[in-house]
Amino acid sequence: MRHIAIIGSGPAGYYTAEAAGKQWEDDARIDVFDKLPVPYGLIRTGVAPDHQSIKGVARRYEKTALSDNVRFVGNVTVGEDVSVAELQDLYDAVVFATGAPEDRSLGLEGEDAANIFGSAAFVGWYNGHPEFASIDPDLSKRHAVVIGMGNVALDVARILSKTEAELAGSDIVEHALAMLRGSNLETITILGRRGPHQIMMTPKELGELMHLDRASPRVDGDDLPPVDDDAILEPGLRKSVTLLRDFAAIPESIHGEKAIAIEFDFFANPVRFISEGGRLTGVEVERTTIEKGRATGTGETYVVPADVAVTCIGYRSSAIDGVPFDERQGRFANDEGRILPGLYCVGWAKRGPTGTIGTNRPDGYGVIEKLAEDIGQGGRKRGREGFDELARDRGLDIVTFRDWQKIEEAEAAAAREGAPREKFVDIESMIAARK
Ligand code: NAP
Repeated sequence: MRHIAIIGSGPAGYYTAEAAGKQWEDDARIDVFDKLPVPYGLIRTGVAPDHQSIKGVARRYEKTALSDNVRFVGNVTVGEDVSVAELQDLYDAVVFATGAPEDRSLGLEGEDAANIFGSAAFVGWYNGHPEFASIDPDLSKRHAVVIGMGNVALDVARILSKTEAELAGSDIVEHALAMLRGSNLETITILGRRGPHQIMMTPKELGELMHLDRASPRVDGDDLPPVDDDAILEPGLRKSVTLLRDFAAIPESIHGEKAIAIEFDFFANPVRFISEGGRLTGVEVERTTIEKGRATGTGETYVVPADVAVTCIGYRSSAIDGVPFDERQGRFANDEGRILPGLYCVGWAKRGPTGTIGTNRPDGYGVIEKLAEDIGQGGRKRGREGFDELARDRGLDIVTFRDWQKIEEAEAAAAREGAPREKFVDIESMIAARK
């Protein structure tokens, strides 16, 4: 018998559990831990609330969670409630599928002012992550700045732009909807330190900006390279750049009909946040040119008005005491998912914050291959029986998958009309709902 502990119940965690279940069937017991009482990690609190079809993949994880050899162990924080060393004593393998939940910071002057948020916090806020439910961004003024040109920047700009009617079928949480109702935003400037050929935005997500009820995307045609230059781009990026060209061609009359302008500001590297009387008023940026693919400052600076700012520049994993960590890369130090024999990582905890949800599937199957090489038949560990004893001794209040199903039912019952659920946004309410 092999006993496997997977830390994190997001896509990376459940694909790994699925792979282990397939590899060993009844000869493995797999415990999927989460510090929250609810499963699915990034699917619940990262994927945009208006992208319900992407969130639908949770049904696949549910199937894994309900299989005989897998169980969910919610409301347990590894590193606090139980140490990694204790888990290693109990399980043949411990796999970190903990994602990259921390915002990278720009390290700029003025960054700690009020109303500046990292995307982990901001996305967590509108998605009801308990840690960020009370950040209360002030959207009552006119200008928002979103820093970074990846898909997270697009998610943030789109959610800030949508009307209540456009968000009707989403599972955006009520506190965010209320704040958006009171929003007076007129501009959302997306700052990219490089140019149109260096964006990280994918065509489907970029194309959504074309169809917003009250916002239209603006690109300055002068920022676009000659159209023939697009030929060298890989097809996905070429499609995205073609969309930027479409945005540049939108007539003024259409922009005039929309209350919000989503401005793409290329070659604009943020250098400082400016606040007056404790209130954010702008982001100073330096014009750049691209040399050998890198943004190089020109010395010319200007200020983009900003009453609220969200940095969408990538994430870091959280280090855990005693587990080798690559500080520079912001992820666990690993060789193809193996940290040490018996200790592994998958998903963003392994490779950093890149790729789609689906990228986690081969990651999960790959790490199980490594694990199989290392643990053989298993080493007569006590597994879940030993963990349950420890949990009882410590008085841990474990949330099971059955409990989660009750929480899920309560969230569905509380949904506003047309929405799939109204999420609980604090841990106590989640736990209370399982009764
Ligand atoms: P990302 O795709 O890596 O984009 C990060 C952006 O931040 C880049 O434009 C980058 O510019 C910029 N940036 C980084 N450091 C910066 C700095 N110091 N100053 C200014 N700009 C800086 O990251 P992400 O948007 O967080 O997305 C993470 C992953 O999740 C991606 O794989 C993404 O595709 C995926 N995702 C997918 C979806 C979807 O499919 N619907 C939705 C959300 C996220 P440089 O290129 O110049 O470094």
